[in-house]
Amino acid sequence: MASGEKIKIAIIGGGLAGATLMNALSSVKHTHLDVDLFESAPEFSERGAAVGIAQNGQRAMVEIGGAVAGALERAGGVTMSSSRICLASGPSALSKVLDLAPEKRGKVVHRAALLSELLKPIDPAKMHTNKKVVRIEELESDRLLVHFEDGSTFKVDAAIGADGVHGHVREHVLGADHPALKATFAGFWDSRSLVPMKKAKELLGEDKFEVQRQYGWIGDGGFFMHDVLDGEETVQCVVAGMADDWGENEWKRELNKDLLEEAVGKWTDTPIKSGMIQAMLENPDLKAFAEWHHKVDAPTYTKGPVCLMGDSAHSMTPWQGSGAGQCIEDTMILQTLLEQVKYRKHLAAAFEAYDQVRRPRTQKIIESSHGTGVILCGRGPNTGLDLEEIQKVLGHRWDHIHSLDLEEHKRQALAALQARI
Ligand SMILES: Cc1cc2nc3c(=O)[nH]c(=O)nc-3n(C[C@H](O)[C@H](O)[C@H](O)COP(=O)(O)OP(=O)(O)OC[C@H]3O[C@@H](n4cnc5c(N)ncnc54)[C@H](O)[C@@H]3O)c2cc1C
Repeated sequence: MASGEKIKIAIIGGGLAGATLMNALSSVKHTHLDVDLFESAPEFSERGAAVGIAQNGQRAMVEIGGAVAGALERAGGVTMSSSRICLASGPSALSKVLDLAPEKRGKVVHRAALLSELLKPIDPAKMHTNKKVVRIEELESDRLLVHFEDGSTFKVDAAIGADGVHGHVREHVLGADHPALKATFAGFWDSRSLVPMKKAKELLGEDKFEVQRQYGWIGDGGFFMHDVLDGEETVQCVVAGMADDWGENEWKRELNKDLLEEAVGKWTDTPIKSGMIQAMLENPDLKAFAEWHHKVDAPTYTKGPVCLMGDSAHSMTPWQGSGAGQCIEDTMILQTLLEQVKYRKHLAAAFEAYDQVRRPRTQKIIESSHGTGVILCGRGPNTGLDLEEIQKVLGHRWDHIHSLDLEEHKRQALAALQARI
């Protein structure tokens, strides 16, 4: 590489993962890198209302520093109100299971506001929309030629796939026929309804809103959650169920009163069950969405100078609210490693080091998130709807996610890099 020539990197996908990384690589410690961000959609946008960033994700944002450090606060993130899990079915129906410890609460933020804060400091000339990646070609010069759907190309030294669960880069890394390529139906669906506060109080009971609190209700083969949004004017209601009959490419289904009643048919009859059904029917366009995850563990997140991050590497069910937090931790490790990479020839080693520390952690969370969903749906093999058994196991299921020692994680990644170069 000629002296002064920068290492060119393409980040593919401008969701929370790609935007956080783009921001993190804009630091003064990364001026040896020349980074471009490519997004397939006509604009950078986030679907869905809110996302919760858990303690580990918040700490990783501070560790990343720069504009990422305060992005949650600038985007209006607020610490989650208290969170209580109760039983909605079985012999102990309506009993409290546990209150989530205050130190474990995350910060909730509007997705679009967070994305906008993350992208604000980025040079617009380095952010490209309407650029769907369809192929990555490995050139003889060890460089990569990124091909877009519109026929254009872009030459880089490395590519980082942040292109989500439906992206292309995973196929480049794993191969088109790999059993771990596709995310699969995780066995859960969920559905949302926004209900005015007055109506929610009528349906679910005034007492549920005396303090600002998120409630989760463990049912028999399903789960119900409600929390307060928009300065206490709106209540978000979410119902989730277990199912094994969704097709391979089925992402959503219509949901109506009959189907909803069928889904909660085994639940004990309580005011919460009937109130929940009514609350969900407040949504005139009620749909159930499939939850997908990368159930089969990918044997690697990297291939030469290409690597995967965020949902393209490790999409997970939402039961432990951790997917976005893992995007941020991925970013922290890539930022740490790429700061050290001053020569193109070391890119592959950096991505292997990233893979070594990030893959075991994220794949463990895919598994624990799924298992937590089964417990919260009242079908844990050792817990079922047994209050005491659920109390014994549930509170600790987040420990391995929240307690990560970030400094140690970074040290391990740097040691893995040093061992390779
Ligand atoms: C219902 C639900 C609730 C959740 N709640 C939480 C929560 O509370 N806390 C939490 O931490 N996580 C939560 N998650 C998970 C979290 O939302 C995701 O893990 C995170 O948003 C993934 O970000 P990403 O950037 O990796 O992927 P995405 O957000 O999917 O972004 C990928 C981007 O790449 C673009 N793209 C795709 N293909 C291409 C291509 N070929 N070329 C160029 N661009 C491409 C897409 O348009 C998109 O903009 C939840 C998920 C769900 C489904």
